[in-house]
Amino acid sequence: MGLPSRTSLGDFLRVRLDPVPVDPVKLAGGVAVFCDPKTWPRVPLRLEPGWVGAVGIHPKSAGQFEDATQHRFHQLVSHPSVSALGEVGVDFTVEEKLHARQISTLRWALQSCRFDQPVVLHIRGGRLDRVHARAHREVLEVLKSVAVNPLQLIHLHCFQGGLLRCGSGRTRTATPTSGLGWVSGPSTPSRRRP
Ligand SMILES: [Zn+2]
Repeated sequence: MGLPSRTSLGDFLRVRLDPVPVDPVKLAGGVAVFCDPKTWPRVPLRLEPGWVGAVGIHPKSAGQFEDATQHRFHQLVSHPSVSALGEVGVDFTVEEKLHARQISTLRWALQSCRFDQPVVLHIRGGRLDRVHARAHREVLEVLKSVAVNPLQLIHLHCFQGGLLRCGSGRTRTATPTSGLGWVSGPSTPSRRRP
C-alpha cells in the first residue's frame, strides 16, 4: 500500500485504495499486533471499535529482550485489554548465531501466555528451507518443553508449508486447535514481510 512502516492504526484505517477493489470489502475490525518493543502500547489498550490487540516480541527483535523488557512484556500481556500474545516465534533468515536467542525468547514469552489468550506464531525457516521444516520442528519442541496446553488457541500466521504439513502429522497432533494464516504459494520469503 506504500505506507510508511510506522503508520498508525488510525491513519491505516483512513486509507482509501486507488483503484477501488472490484469486490468491495467492508473492514469490520481486526487485530492490531504490537511485536516491536519500541512500539509497545500503553495499557489499557484503546482501539477502534471492532479491533483487538496482541502484544508480542517478533523473533527479529529477540536481541532486545532484556530484564526490563521482560518485566514490561509480562505486565502488558497479562493485562485484560490485551487479547492475544504475539507475534512470537522464530525467523531463521537471520544469522545462525541469533537462532538460540530467538528460541530462548520464545520459550520465555510463552510462559506468560494465558489459556484464554490466543498465541500468534511467526515461523520462518532459512532461505534454503522452502517449507520451513526445521523452524517448525524447533517451535514444536518449545511448545512441548513449556507444556503449552494442547487446546491452546494458536494462529500460525503467514504459513508457508504444504497441505500435508498443516493437515496432519506432528503439527496437527501437537496443536490441534491451531489456525493458519495463508500467504500465496511457497515463495521465497520477502525481506519486508513482518
Ligand atoms: Zn510475522
